[in-house]
Amino acid sequence: MNQQWRLARTPVEGWPTNGDFEWVESDMPDPGSGQVLTLTLFVSMDPYQWSRRRSGTEQPGDVCHGRSVSRVIAGKTERFTEGDIIFNTNGWQAYGLTGEGITTHGYMFPRKLDPGVAPVSTALGVLGMLGLTAYSGLIVQCEPRAGETVVVSAASGGVGQVAVQLARTRGARVVGVAGSEEKCRFVVEELGAAACVSHRDPEYAGVLAAACPDGIDVYFENVGGAVYEGVLALLNRNARITVCGYISQYGNEDGRNPREVWDAMGAATFERQNVAVHDLFVGNFVEAHQERFVEEMGARFQAGEIVYREHVYDGLESAPRAFGDMLAGRNFGKTLVRCSDEARE
Ligand code: NDP
Repeated sequence: MNQQWRLARTPVEGWPTNGDFEWVESDMPDPGSGQVLTLTLFVSMDPYQWSRRRSGTEQPGDVCHGRSVSRVIAGKTERFTEGDIIFNTNGWQAYGLTGEGITTHGYMFPRKLDPGVAPVSTALGVLGMLGLTAYSGLIVQCEPRAGETVVVSAASGGVGQVAVQLARTRGARVVGVAGSEEKCRFVVEELGAAACVSHRDPEYAGVLAAACPDGIDVYFENVGGAVYEGVLALLNRNARITVCGYISQYGNEDGRNPREVWDAMGAATFERQNVAVHDLFVGNFVEAHQERFVEEMGARFQAGEIVYREHVYDGLESAPRAFGDMLAGRNFGKTLVRCSDEARE
């Protein structure tokens, strides 16, 4: 039997609740011509999945969407054969099909992974879409220079931890913002930031100002809300911002468009300080920048220069909990669900 989490309803509350997901046991999928059957090893928990569910892109009854690392267990195509470990999009289910007629969700095409090069889970994080997101927003859009101050919010998370390290490679002074003292310690001691400020500190704005005595030249925005407000007050003239996300606003229930809220908060500062604001959608960078990203990150990874931290939940059953924890900041690192004991080595 296959096991799946399906969307039970279009979410009725701002943040996930148990009633949003339904556990279903169904027949094993049967690979047709041009398809392979795959066993899910890891499935990725990502904030954008919540937007899909709230907006109706994912419909009640659909298997919950999610990118995955899987092993091919039956079938054969020109690209994949039994035993291959691949990046694909199985979603929140134990087994899925990949190949002809199976949707790949645009820019993230299935590909074979080499377990000898890096732990395969990194294809969902530091060496995958999240790494490319950090690279595109920080390096391509904001071009940090030596000596500049770069602030990264959600700095210990999947995207943030890569952004912090990439900024350092350009000689920037990096200041992280994260949700606990433990996360801040990780950002400074292991990722190498000059400082990290907890946004839960009642004196957050003042502490951030003290950590950025020369103001802020580049801001990697993951969070929005109060974290962003603190940053706005410190932006230097000609500062650059990449708007990667604003997760604190993804559960808004007041009907306001989170992006419009974000723009309105910053408008006066942007004009006064001539700030360049870059919208970031990683899909727009795959064609032009994926190759350079893989080259640079692959080499740095191989050289042992890149630290990454994963928060792994065990068992497909735990997916809704892992997802809710990630959105609420109870994760520490890139959030994954390990769906098979085989992925344990
Ligand atoms: P993370 O691993 O960073 O997990 C989310 C983190 O957000 C939490 O750990 C928490 O960190 C922080 N957070 C949640 N709620 C709040 C809040 N109210 N205030 C402050 N911080 C909060 O997730 P990802 O790395 O997967 O995603 C990070 C961002 O990147 C998201 O905004 C996501 O939408 C965006 N993204 C955008 C892409 C694009 O193409 N533009 C592609 C991929 C991701 P803490 O405890 O430290 O506060």
